[in-house]
Amino acid sequence: MSIDFTLSPELEELRMRVRDFITTVVAPAEAQIKNEADLDRAEYIHLLLDLRRQAHDLGLWLPHMPEEWGGMGLGHVELAMVQAEAAKAYYGPFALNCMAPDEGNMHTLLHWGTDEQKERYLRPLCEGTAMSCFAMTEPEVAGSDPTLIRTTAVQDGDEWVINGHKWFISNARRASFAILIARTEDNPDLPQAANTAFLVDVPSEGWERVREIETMHGGTGHSEIVIEDLRVPAAHMLGGRGHGHMLGQYRLGPARLAHCMRWIAQAETALDMMVERSLERFSHGSILAEKQGIQWMIADSTMELYQAKLMVLHAAYRIDHRLDFKSEVSMAKHFVANMLNRVIDRSIQVHGALGYSTDTPLAHMYQHARWARFADGADEVHQMRIAQRTIAAFRDERSTKRATGDLPI
Ligand SMILES: Cc1cc2nc3c(=O)[nH]c(=O)nc-3n(C[C@H](O)[C@H](O)[C@H](O)COP(=O)(O)OP(=O)(O)OC[C@H]3O[C@@H](n4cnc5c(N)ncnc54)[C@H](O)[C@@H]3O)c2cc1C
Repeated sequence: MSIDFTLSPELEELRMRVRDFITTVVAPAEAQIKNEADLDRAEYIHLLLDLRRQAHDLGLWLPHMPEEWGGMGLGHVELAMVQAEAAKAYYGPFALNCMAPDEGNMHTLLHWGTDEQKERYLRPLCEGTAMSCFAMTEPEVAGSDPTLIRTTAVQDGDEWVINGHKWFISNARRASFAILIARTEDNPDLPQAANTAFLVDVPSEGWERVREIETMHGGTGHSEIVIEDLRVPAAHMLGGRGHGHMLGQYRLGPARLAHCMRWIAQAETALDMMVERSLERFSHGSILAEKQGIQWMIADSTMELYQAKLMVLHAAYRIDHRLDFKSEVSMAKHFVANMLNRVIDRSIQVHGALGYSTDTPLAHMYQHARWARFADGADEVHQMRIAQRTIAAFRDERSTKRATGDLPI
């Protein structure tokens, strides 16, 4: 019998070290950033880089990368507990150098990059001396369907000439390179084989960042990019010609799950706050924790968080064991994103006006959480794929069992 949810003493010690680092180093720095209104940009950058230096010195660096790239060499189940601890603080994943989109880009480069590409692009990401972005979404066509991408790359001798329009490119203003997805094939056999990935140095002539997009959580680094006659050397193609879709899907599997790991941390914080507030607030003759209506919110959130943790651990287990994980990651991504929104919403409800204010982190968390339901695969697209796999399982085997995690139960 090999199902075992306990951690080895070494991993438990590691989890506690991450927790300790987040509580004693990252959280106070975050409080300083929030409270010191006169902190100038240079001091702010210095604070952030110092967090990274400390994480690196403590060996809490690149939990998702192999040791030969300076990482901690963890599997995905082990990574789940590190990410879930790190994301208890907003800057935690940044400090450990395991935040999106760099984390997903590192996986992609590690798997698809040539030796030269790895040295030039992956090495500085791992060393923390460069940042990157992933440029796929376009304003004119549905981001949910990358077969519609209009940005084109046309070969001209030893170069590719790229024209197009991208938006919501996270981190583009800080990035020293982009993984860009462009259409290279006119009539591919499969619509999914139309696109190719390129490594683009930033800045480059022809790559123009025209604006920072203001979102419901402010302007935090999502850019609109106009691409005009951008020339990229043929050697900067990442993966093969027509492999852009496959590469994007490969990148999104573990990257979606890493989002789930961080969302679990956020949901847990919201639930902790919900319970703490319900034990303090008195109304109509008793504390809130004694009201059935509040207990239901606590109970629903607890059950959903538990489900989320099991789904993420199981999907991570499947990745670690080289089993097909598409359906499990899809189901986890959909469930955890929705669970996160519901739990934060309930926590705001229990806090009343305080929850709506920016005196607690809840309002900020709520604004951030909303994107989880449509980015990296909208809810409805995941549901479409999950249903297709369930129907296929039934057609093949007259049973839906395979589609529900293929568990021995
Ligand atoms: C904060 C943030 C950061 C982002 N960072 C990046 C980034 O770094 N790089 C990048 O390339 N992109 C990024 N994106 C873009 C993101 O990947 C897209 O928003 C996402 O893929 C959805 O595409 P879209 O916005 O064009 O919505 P659309 O594709 O237009 O979809 C809109 C809605 O239509 C519905 N829908 C779509 N297809 C179907 C279907 N088949 N069945 C039923 N309903 C459907 C869904 O409800 C969906 O929410 C980011 C977005 C946000 C908000």
